[in-house]
Amino acid sequence: MQQVQPPIPVEYLEAEEKDLVARIQARQKEFGRQLLILGHHYQQEAVFQCADMVGDSLKLARQAAAAKEARYIVFCGVHFMAEAADILTDAGQAVFLPHLQAGCPMADMATVDQVAQAWQELAGVCPQDQVVPVTYVNSSAAIKAFVGERGGSVCTSSNAERVLAWALERGDKIFFFPDEHLGRNSAKALGLRDEEIVLWQRGRPLGGNSPEELQRARVLLWNGYCEVHMEFSAEQIARWRRQEPAIQVIIHPESNQEAVAAADQYGSTEAIIAAIRNSRPGSVWAVGTEVNLVKRLQQQHPDKTIHLLAPTPCCCKTMALVTPASLLWLLDNLAQGRLVNQIKVAPEIAQGARLALDRMLEI
Ligand code: SF4
Repeated sequence: MQQVQPPIPVEYLEAEEKDLVARIQARQKEFGRQLLILGHHYQQEAVFQCADMVGDSLKLARQAAAAKEARYIVFCGVHFMAEAADILTDAGQAVFLPHLQAGCPMADMATVDQVAQAWQELAGVCPQDQVVPVTYVNSSAAIKAFVGERGGSVCTSSNAERVLAWALERGDKIFFFPDEHLGRNSAKALGLRDEEIVLWQRGRPLGGNSPEELQRARVLLWNGYCEVHMEFSAEQIARWRRQEPAIQVIIHPESNQEAVAAADQYGSTEAIIAAIRNSRPGSVWAVGTEVNLVKRLQQQHPDKTIHLLAPTPCCCKTMALVTPASLLWLLDNLAQGRLVNQIKVAPEIAQGARLALDRMLEI
């Protein structure tokens, strides 16, 4: 991430949360429909309550694009989400991130230079026109553009299997960025065998594989991961089953394959929310995803027992940089005509990234 977060004055950092929220609401009234605050499911509650729209990253970006009267779109999420919103919105809409250090560590594990280098190395051992690149939406705009310009697609955690199936019809191999685990879980769900899936370890020649291993493989997985979802394990699930025999376990597919295989269900944030909402009163759940979403589910469904899957809360530390203080600081600046923390994707990158996003929507 190139932009540096300007210091947030101490008067914001020391203010009471309820005062900050009241001042945010006053700004929202003042801006009216010109301002749209988007809140990702993993945001802390005080920020989430201020959002005009809530959801997962792509849903929010698409909703922002549809809200044409909104001139200022404030994405309470992480950097790649704000980039996706900027790509999909039009020139009259500007997108802002309340804290510039709110990046996604997993997205940052695949830089476009690393990916371009890997792509070139792979071309030395496999016919390039037979490799279809696919990137998880949790990736930089530059990676999306790289993929889009090479005939590939974006995927989300809810459509990854469908996109992988599409890619395998178009070519011999998939190069999947940046999340090893979503890629592996989706490939396994499509029936691919372990020996058809190889890990590309960034920084190692040929990703640490022999030319023969790469030639044999159907799916190459970049070795990125989400620190939050890596906290969940099959052992935790076994422990819950011993403690609560009636428990149902649902987990996000960024978790490792052993944990996903041991769970009753796996799915995106929206799928997790729907599964709990549609379950019968009195049901007991262990949920493997970010703590703010699980706590919200506990509050929204007092008729169900909902446990955190891991013994300690798993929190996205960069998402947590977006606070009522940073949100208010941003809105105060906008009110004074200072467009701080704007996320702008260069037009040539946005064009390539759109190709990859549009391809996903067609699939
Ligand atoms: S929860 Fe994981 S994937 Fe999501 S923003 Fe945080 S680090 Fe990235």
